[in-house]
Amino acid sequence: MSALFDRSYTCQICGNEFTSMQVKTSAIRAKERRKDFHTIFNGENPTFYGVICCPNCGYTKFENDFKQEVTAKCRDLVKNTITKSWKPQDYTHERDLNAAIKVHLIALVNYNILKEKQAVIGKLLLRLAWFYDEAGNSDENKKYVKLALDAFIRSFELEKQEDAEEKELEIIYLIGELNRQLGNYKEAIRWYEMVVRHEFAYKNRLIKGYAKDQWALAAEEYNLSKKNESNAVVNQNY
Ligand SMILES: [Zn+2]
Repeated sequence: MSALFDRSYTCQICGNEFTSMQVKTSAIRAKERRKDFHTIFNGENPTFYGVICCPNCGYTKFENDFKQEVTAKCRDLVKNTITKSWKPQDYTHERDLNAAIKVHLIALVNYNILKEKQAVIGKLLLRLAWFYDEAGNSDENKKYVKLALDAFIRSFELEKQEDAEEKELEIIYLIGELNRQLGNYKEAIRWYEMVVRHEFAYKNRLIKGYAKDQWALAAEEYNLSKKNESNAVVNQNY
């Protein structure tokens, strides 16, 4: 039996009614959960199907956002930008890693044009970073980790979060974790510490636990990098 099924959608921009494939909940098999929330799956990867793309007009958003009603202004904006340059493409069927990357890049253009929240744009950029990691493309992975980090920092500085406490804690944690991935260990530790000391940390034990673990890891990696640096200096002196 197929792990996929067709779900119906109506496009809020052009009115197109279409189906797009999703992974059956019963078929989702998580193999590994990483500390940046990247889950590796056995079999079909539901993350590939996280965004819905209207094949008719190019309107592309996370599934929940895709279903939301839009204002006339937003509709006009998408029609005059996305749809104007849209070349027929269909992401409603089974998606491989390559298709997942492409459809998420289209979503990124949509979110940027609509000037959506940096927290959501960051989430999209982080998923692209995961996909490039799965593709074994470390340059693109790094590029998107950096872009996601910048978006989360802008979000932290400028945006009020809905369910503020929970969201903010998650964003602070991710700023720490993405800094660590980029080798900015001291900066990473500063943000992990902010999670652990956050007044609402007790409400999210998972993230608090992650922050403690990753703080220790970042300290270890920092010490190792210092050791390697001093070894390099010693070697140079020979
Ligand atoms: Zn449409």
